[in-house]
Amino acid sequence: MSIEREPKSSNTEKLRLEKAEIRRSFEVYRQFHQRLERIQGLRNRAEIFRHAREIASRMVGGIASQVILRGELTTLEIPNLEEVPSHLEGLLPELGEDLIEWAVQNRTASSLPIDEPELIEKEVHTQVIVPIVSHSNVQGLMVLWSRSEISTLSHIELDMLSTLGRVVGIQVENATLYAEVQEIGSLLDNVLESIPYAVLVTNLDDQIVTMNSNAEFMFDLRRFFTLQEKYQRAMSPEVAAVFGKLVISTLKGEEQFDYEFQHRIGDRTDILIGISTSIVYDRKNNPTGIVFICRDLALSREVQKLRELDVMKTEFLHTVSHELKTPLTAIMGGAEVLQYDLESFSPDNQEIIQIIQEGGHRLHSLITDLLDLSRLESGNVDLALSRGKISDLVQDSMRILDPGTECKLCFQCDENEPSFLFDHEKIRQVVDNLISNATKYSPDGGTIQIRVYLSEDNERVHFEVADEGIGIPPDQIHQIWNKFYRVDSSSTSEIEGTGLGLSITKHIIDMHQGHIQATSQPGAGSTFMFWIPHIQEGTIL
Ligand code: ADP
Repeated sequence: MSIEREPKSSNTEKLRLEKAEIRRSFEVYRQFHQRLERIQGLRNRAEIFRHAREIASRMVGGIASQVILRGELTTLEIPNLEEVPSHLEGLLPELGEDLIEWAVQNRTASSLPIDEPELIEKEVHTQVIVPIVSHSNVQGLMVLWSRSEISTLSHIELDMLSTLGRVVGIQVENATLYAEVQEIGSLLDNVLESIPYAVLVTNLDDQIVTMNSNAEFMFDLRRFFTLQEKYQRAMSPEVAAVFGKLVISTLKGEEQFDYEFQHRIGDRTDILIGISTSIVYDRKNNPTGIVFICRDLALSREVQKLRELDVMKTEFLHTVSHELKTPLTAIMGGAEVLQYDLESFSPDNQEIIQIIQEGGHRLHSLITDLLDLSRLESGNVDLALSRGKISDLVQDSMRILDPGTECKLCFQCDENEPSFLFDHEKIRQVVDNLISNATKYSPDGGTIQIRVYLSEDNERVHFEVADEGIGIPPDQIHQIWNKFYRVDSSSTSEIEGTGLGLSITKHIIDMHQGHIQATSQPGAGSTFMFWIPHIQEGTIL
């Protein structure tokens, strides 16, 4: 029996070739993994797709490629990720939902022979489809058109392409999550920055995790250098000692409120700081750090003192106005009695009586305004709500004001205005004030348009008064609602007023949960508009 043996040399040759093949495959794998690693470092979707297409095209000899993504629901989103050379333009088949459906079922890369003669003529022989798959779903497809014959793509290469599709899918999902986290982070940063106190957060290893600009200023820190640094190293020994004490007490469960300590900012400014602390917990309710909120107590006390002074001032005004009312009533009563017998006085004395009466009236309206305002400001006033139409009340107000004015009053109202619940006396005060201001600040007359109308949804009733008077300068218009504020100009100095009417008006509209606003053009006129909502029966405001 003779056994035919291959010659030893041919065996060795075969082994050498096999080894070379293994080495080559190993090298292909190594390079493939290196390229995948590069994708894993990317955060931008377009970049990820660009790299992925490059890797896949290199593997399959791709000459054109396209990425299609599944948008919201099932609609297709085709980002601008085509790479089609001009000689193939218009020849490649359109990609559609059915292909995505196929990928949802299949989830692995595959290749199909091309049978369109036009494409074959251009040396396009194979279409390779790589599903882009993340943990949860098929996100889209990468499609490549290759000049290689289908038979030249091995199973291993298709496996590698499937892996590529999965890496891309996961990376795209990560990139989306990363963008969301970035957005939440920048929102939190904005919130942190808008807090008017110094805020600083440490973790349980005493490292500073975050802080706002106020903290940088208060403790002379620079975020860039101090984040992730232990507070003991980053802060001055005095401040670090206080923080150390607070960390211990806080972690023992004694969260601090305004723990006071004297601190020097820069070289000389000494301030009294109040530090409040609380523990930060993670989602599983484990403590992860401590937040320190530090405020300048002297400043807060100053604000508190100003508030108390404001209350005292209001109370004082209220008492004084009240006390003035009784003697004023006596003076005005006396002047009125003298008025009956005016003829019996000399012309000089008649003038004096006139002056007493006019002055008395002015003082009376000032005192009434002051008392009204102090009552409204104290918050001890309830609305006496009853049903009625604002237009009735406006017409009443116009009847009384009309005879005394040079202006032409025009009124327009919605015929279907339903009955609304409002405090008649107070809204009447508002309407009187706005109409009388319109006439008062129109010294040369003009037309005053008054309108009552309903909002489109019938939920609000609007009142508007537009005059053609002196107007209000734009830099002062936002101040007219402040008490005692009167526009400072030559044209207003002659016109009498207390500067309290609009302040009272605003309080009343606020009490009705409404809104008031003014627009104006100096020399052309002003428009005041308020609305009040449809208040339900039984509502307590
Ligand atoms: P006053 O008693 O001074 O009229 P208000 O509080 O009613 O007090 O108004 C505050 C200021 O707003 C007025 O002094 C005036 O300068 C300005 N103002 C109010 N209404 C008008 C208007 N219709 N046209 C021009 N200026 C106005």
